[in-house]
Parts: sequence; structure tokens; C-alpha cells
Amino acid sequence: MTAWLSAGRNAAGLLRGRVPGQLVIQLTDRCNATCPQCGMRVTERFDRSRLSMDDLRRMIDAAAQKGIQALSFTGGEPMLLFEDLAELIRYAGAAGIPYIRTGTNGCCFMHSLRPDFRSRIARIAHTLADTPLRNFWISIDSAVAGVHEAMRGFPGVVEGIARALPLFHAAGIYPSLNLGINRNIVHDTMGLSPAAAHPTREAYLDEFYHRFRQGFREFYRFAAEMGFTIVNSCYPMSIDDADRGEADLNAVYGASSIDPVIRFSRDEKARLFKALFETIPEFRSKIRIFSPRASVYALYRQYGGGSDLPPYPCRGGMDFFYINARDGDTYPCGYRGAENLGKFWDLDLSSRRNGDRCVACDWECFRDPSVLFGPILEAASRPQALIRRVLKDGKCGTLWGEDLKYYRACDFFDGRKPPDYDRLGRFR
Ligand code: SF4
Ligand code: SF4
Repeated sequence: MTAWLSAGRNAAGLLRGRVPGQLVIQLTDRCNATCPQCGMRVTERFDRSRLSMDDLRRMIDAAAQKGIQALSFTGGEPMLLFEDLAELIRYAGAAGIPYIRTGTNGCCFMHSLRPDFRSRIARIAHTLADTPLRNFWISIDSAVAGVHEAMRGFPGVVEGIARALPLFHAAGIYPSLNLGINRNIVHDTMGLSPAAAHPTREAYLDEFYHRFRQGFREFYRFAAEMGFTIVNSCYPMSIDDADRGEADLNAVYGASSIDPVIRFSRDEKARLFKALFETIPEFRSKIRIFSPRASVYALYRQYGGGSDLPPYPCRGGMDFFYINARDGDTYPCGYRGAENLGKFWDLDLSSRRNGDRCVACDWECFRDPSVLFGPILEAASRPQALIRRVLKDGKCGTLWGEDLKYYRACDFFDGRKPPDYDRLGRFR
């Protein structure tokens, strides 16, 4: 399908209350890392699975036929299936899906002092560059190399990533650093606990906010100094039984945990999102920051910013879907495991209606685009509601407009293009 046809189809969809579809396919739940915040770590004992190539091709054909625009191959660790992964990306591109993403926990960047490191990485980079892959993420959980490497169980990987980045850039791939927000992002945020002596809860939260504010600064600096040109934040996916909403979730996607390193209370989350929201503008001119401030602001308000404005509901289960490696079935997302929607190729997307108004978790893959498309859908279907929203909190509209300008300056985070620092410089 040409770009024009695709744009026309998207515009018609928006008028009918639908946003461009997104599908996240978990290729496998196998992983070789030891991240404490994840139920798929190698030390967890359960029968691992992977999807068959026949089923994957059938899912991709169905996705293209149903107009899915964005396709992510996730894991576990997708790079454990590297040859299949490259073939699937080619297949999805040939089927007409324009936005294809995948990533790695970094395992392939280990042993960077071995003589074959450069040739091995160049081969990976060129293989991916020969596919229509648009974005390639590398996840790092702490700006303190030793802490990240201990969490992941990959000694020396941070140096390996820094050595690999120029080889990827030379091949025409600009990887994104994905930070999974947790309590270990920098020295200052580690060990910060409400149990420690603070005169009041408010005093603790104040310190929490300032430490994370500094932490995000350090992390963005670290990302830019390593050589990354795009950075994204994965919001914490704690399943916290003290919190409303997340307690009701039944995660089918194993990338969640009750480990304290990723567990935050609602009032901590409010400070966390405030700190992120306020740090992003300081770095927008230096590195392409994917996290839209409109979405981070909405999460801040949701967790305690005192708004009576309902957040834009997540499009999970309506336009966005998740396919699980273990059963090959479709779910509204990785966290509504009780709602098995069957095989994706049998799913009638037109029957998926706006009944759900879910904001039960903070999965950025689904929450961020839902917020970005929210005002467009509202303008098309309920313009009075949009006017009321803007009159009540004009900041929502301002942030949304700024995000769109920034996204344009970043070529909508095209990971096949280098950053244009002149355009980013306007956001200084
Ligand atoms: S977070 Fe990713 S890298 Fe870490 S154990 Fe889970 S799937 Fe593996
Ligand atoms: S907010 Fe979205 S991703 Fe989270 S549980 Fe609801 S539908 Fe799923």
C-alpha cells in the first residue's frame, strides 16, 4: 500500500473513532538475562515457548490485511531468534506494515574485547539495516554501569553497547535507549525508602521527587554521552496490590513483577512522573526523547495531581493488541490476561468498540500513543468534550501541540535517520 493510501485509511479511521492499529507480538518468552523486575528472567522456572514461523506469517498477513500500522516483535529476548527475526521483519515490510520495531536486552554486545567483536556486530547491524526495520531499542536500567550489569547478569555490556553504537550508525540504524524506570536508575535513587527516617510522608516524597529529578538528568546525560540519539522511558509495570487498578490486572506478559526495585506507591508515582515531566525539556535539544510530555503529565495528574479530567483511555483491546508466545492468542494488552481474544487472524477489529475506558496500568507502548491520538479522536467525535477539556486545563492542549512539534523535529523518531540538531536546537 502506498503512503498516500495508508494516510487516507488512517484519516478515515480517525473519523470513525479508530486510531492506526498497533500489534505487539511476543516471539518468545525465553530470555538469558536476570533482571529482578521481570518474570521472564532466566532464573524463573517455567516451560519456555516460542511462536512458530507459520503462525507468525499468518499473524503478519492478518495484521496487514486489517490495517495494522505498527508492529513490534518483543520477547523475552528477540535476538535469541535473530535469523527468524530478520526474516519476519522483511516479511512484515513486504506485507505493507510501515512501522516495525524490535530490540534487545544487549546480550549480543557482550565480550566487546574479543577480536571478532567488530565484525560480529557489523554483521548484525547490516543484517538489520537490510530489512525495513524502523526502530531498534536497546534496554538499559541504570546509568551506573556496574548496577545495570549486575541486574541483567551481563558483565561488561555497557562498554560493549558504547562500542557497538558507531557500527550501527554506520550501517544506518540509530538505536533507541529504553530505560525501564526502577529504583536503581542512578546512585541517588537507590535504597530510597519510606521506611528510612523522615519526619513526615510529605518530607519523604519531597526527597523522592528531588532524587528522581536528578536521576533522570543523569540518565539522559549518560544516554547522550554513550552515543545514543534516541531515548525512551518504560514506565514501571509493578503489579502492586496496594494500588487500585493494577491489583485487578492478570498479566499474561511476563515483564512485570512485585520486586521492590520496580514497585512504587501511587504517591511515589505522582512524584516520579512529575520529575520526568520536568526533566524532559532540559534535554530535548540534546537527544531525541520519545516520551511525550502530554502523556507523562496525564499520568502525573492521574496519580495525584488533583485533576477531575478523565485521562484519555488506553486503546488496548480496541486498536492495540498483544499476542502471547505461550498460546499464540491475542489479548487486549500484556496485562489483561483474563480476556483471551483468540487467534488474531480470526479477530474482527471492527467489532472492538469504545466500551473499555481502561487506565489500569502505565504501559507506555499503549498509553503514550493513546494520549497523543486522544484529542484527535475527541475533535472528530465529541468536539464539545475537547473544548471543555482545554477550558478546564489549557496545559493539556499546549503540551500536546508542543509534543507534535517536537515529534516533527525528530522525524517522528525515525530510527533510520540521524538527528537534526538544528531542528532539535529550537527546543533548547
Ligand atoms: S526485562 Fe527483558 S531482558 Fe530482563 S529478564 Fe525480562 S525479558 Fe529478559
Ligand atoms: S491501560 Fe492499556 S495496557 Fe494497561 S491494562 Fe489497560 S488496556 Fe492494558
